[in-house]
Amino acid sequence: MSDCIFCRIVSREIPATEVGRTDDAVAFRDLDPKAPTHVLVVPVRHVNAVRDATGPEGEKLLGRVFAFAATLATELGLDADGYRLVTNTGRHGGQSVDHLHVHLLGGRQLEWPPG
Ligand code: AMP
Repeated sequence: MSDCIFCRIVSREIPATEVGRTDDAVAFRDLDPKAPTHVLVVPVRHVNAVRDATGPEGEKLLGRVFAFAATLATELGLDADGYRLVTNTGRHGGQSVDHLHVHLLGGRQLEWPPG
């Protein structure tokens, strides 16, 4: 989608600090980090949110995005102390960009429950 900021990052039309890329997903640093490590993992294919990743293709996509996030967490040295994977969905979930993304947060003690 040409008006989607994450699609434009995926296609490298606009710059981002990429930390990894597969055929299915791209990972880049969040512009406004909420933790020492804050990476966004987004599918290459535009899907609005996790609720739209339906059917066998959607399940495969979610599996690949989460597996890639876990691989990146290992590469970024987060396994020993742990980290959080979050996907905000819709208004109550606090989603501000309508392209499915998983936040990978780590490098400090994270609070629970979230605000
Ligand atoms: P959410 O609020 O869960 O939809 O998360 C969207 C995230 O995208 C926020 O943490 C923003 O800081 C981040 N963000 C928005 N625009 C950009 C951008 N151009 N590059 C990197 N991160 C961005």
